[in-house]
Amino acid sequence: VPDSADAVLDGLDPEQRAVATALRGPVCVLAGAGTGKTRAITHRIAYGVRAGILQPASVLAVTFTARAAGEMRGRLRLLGAGGVQARTFHSAALRQLQYFWPRAVGGEMPRLLERKVQLVAEAGARCRIRLDRNELRDVTGEIEWCKVTQTVPEEYATAAAKTGRDVPRDPAEVARVYTTYEQLKRDRGVIDFEDVLLLTVGVLQDRPDVAEAVRSQYQHFVVDEYQDVSPLQQRLLDLWLGGRDDLCVVGDASQTIYSFTGATPDFLLGFRGRHPQATVVKLVRDYRSTPQVVGLANGLLAQARGQAAAHRLELVSQREAGPEPSFAEYPDEPAEAEGAARRIRELMDAGVRPSEIAVLYRINAQSEVYEQALADAGVPYQLRGAERFFERPEVREAGLLLRGAARAAADPDQAGSGIPDQVRAVLSSRGWASEPPAGSGAVRDRWESLAALVRLAEDFAAARPDAGLGDFVAELDERANAQHAPTVEGVTLASLHAAKGLEWDAVFLVGLTEGTLPITYAKTDEQVEEERRLLYVGVTRARFHLGLSWALSRSPGGRGSRRPSRFLDGLRPGSTPRGARGAGGGAGAERGSGGRKRRGPVQCRVCGRTLSEAGEIKLMRCEDCPSDLDEALYERLRAWRMEQAKAVGHPAYV
Ligand code: ATP
Ligand code: MG
Repeated sequence: VPDSADAVLDGLDPEQRAVATALRGPVCVLAGAGTGKTRAITHRIAYGVRAGILQPASVLAVTFTARAAGEMRGRLRLLGAGGVQARTFHSAALRQLQYFWPRAVGGEMPRLLERKVQLVAEAGARCRIRLDRNELRDVTGEIEWCKVTQTVPEEYATAAAKTGRDVPRDPAEVARVYTTYEQLKRDRGVIDFEDVLLLTVGVLQDRPDVAEAVRSQYQHFVVDEYQDVSPLQQRLLDLWLGGRDDLCVVGDASQTIYSFTGATPDFLLGFRGRHPQATVVKLVRDYRSTPQVVGLANGLLAQARGQAAAHRLELVSQREAGPEPSFAEYPDEPAEAEGAARRIRELMDAGVRPSEIAVLYRINAQSEVYEQALADAGVPYQLRGAERFFERPEVREAGLLLRGAARAAADPDQAGSGIPDQVRAVLSSRGWASEPPAGSGAVRDRWESLAALVRLAEDFAAARPDAGLGDFVAELDERANAQHAPTVEGVTLASLHAAKGLEWDAVFLVGLTEGTLPITYAKTDEQVEEERRLLYVGVTRARFHLGLSWALSRSPGGRGSRRPSRFLDGLRPGSTPRGARGAGGGAGAERGSGGRKRRGPVQCRVCGRTLSEAGEIKLMRCEDCPSDLDEALYERLRAWRMEQAKAVGHPAYV
């Protein structure tokens, strides 16, 4: 713990210091990946608290994921500023709603809806609108979009047309299902994920006494990852502020990757316009990545188009030179996964810890082949966004046992050994061995989560030598409430979306083919640009090693027809930048020399290969690419949305 407020500023560069010492908002930090935005705002809060200018309980810091919130609380504690609320929008709103519900509405707060899709199906049936599986998922997605963008059913058709949305059914039908879904929820006394924010906004708007109570509690607001704030979250923030402007936001327009939830960088980019007196700070020094990684990230952004691209910030690496990013092409996906597993083993043999390595992909369904390859290579791994740590049965059971043991230990006649030993003893009484079981699968997962608890106990005991087992159990409760899971020792497998804000020594970006990145359903220019930003987010997660790879076909013996992602054109060795080849990039109509429209080559709508066989041209896809891919992709998209929802603390999906 730094010994003074000024010592909190040590280790910040002049611009970061400017952020940390600008203790009155409005403050806006515009900066690229790895420039220390999160670090600067964390130190700002700690400095304010340590200098006695900010009361810890009056600060509300909002971050994007529960994990990021947990990390921020941990850092603040280490800087001597414990007790500050760092939460996601959702968890902050849920707490306020629970607290104020009896006063504002009366009675108990309704339960959170668990099976949303089922209720949407029921709503469809009530309206006599038959929805097949895909339509059901898409209509559910549309309802979510309406809610986060505060679009009421009557406005849906106009709003969808205006924003160019891919409407799954006649907009009037979607609107009817939406209305009925809302009705059914009311009838059953349940609320959904989006309602938590909507209701909190509603209560704060309608009940000045509640708004006053919240405003007198929180006076200083800090928001991380502000480029991905949704209009509804912005509304909530405005209500919390209530006309005050002690707000500090940080963000990077080039990392806007959640537009599908209604998020928009407009609030970040328009901040100065809304607050002309704001202190605006730009950070350009990249402390995370080597010049090689930063060079690739800059190269990627140089090709970006659109609104966010106009605000891109060139990064300047502060680190020593490292290895060149590697580009690797494989005949098929299993070979690609084996290649990654082999390189990971080499890194581990060279002393890199598995928890410092990540494999990142576009959609979760890509993880399977990597799980297999890593298990075969004997590499431990963990899936991010997988089942929540504190809800796992073995962790719950361990929690109960530890609680019992803590009660017994409180008896002065019992237990004088250290916390980690006590935890090990409790777990081994239930058959937990200190050595991992052979192989992968459920038994191994169970062992890993209990091992994570032991490591947590070790860290806790090191940080608080005087604490007892009861304190550790309290720490577990606190972490469970905040969904702040301990790090499981292992290579991280995660989607690019879930990797936001995080960093590793070595990052493998895999499956970089047309059809996967950009994903097939990214159709408009804006959607394709968002896919490019996703790759930018992926590249900038790496501190040192960066591997990029793709496979020419899905399975061994496939036709080898996929093309590497267009975003790598001009960046991977031997390729030409896009545009340099003329306008012949895509399928469809082109202008011939006589000004007459002529059909260009037909390309596979899945992998982008130019098709030559008549049968394939008719299908507009290679035989190699599975016919149900669209459906599978939607399935994956849905699963991925669910995962994102979990990542942001969506209680309805737990
Ligand atoms: P992202 O856009 O990915 O969220 P960020 O701008 O929030 O990135 P941080 O995560 O705060 O960046 O910082 C990136 C890394 O650089 C971290 O490991 C952080 O500790 C380190 N770092 C930041 N500022 C400094 C500094 N002044 N000196 C040394 N290291 C720093
Ligand atoms: Mg950050």
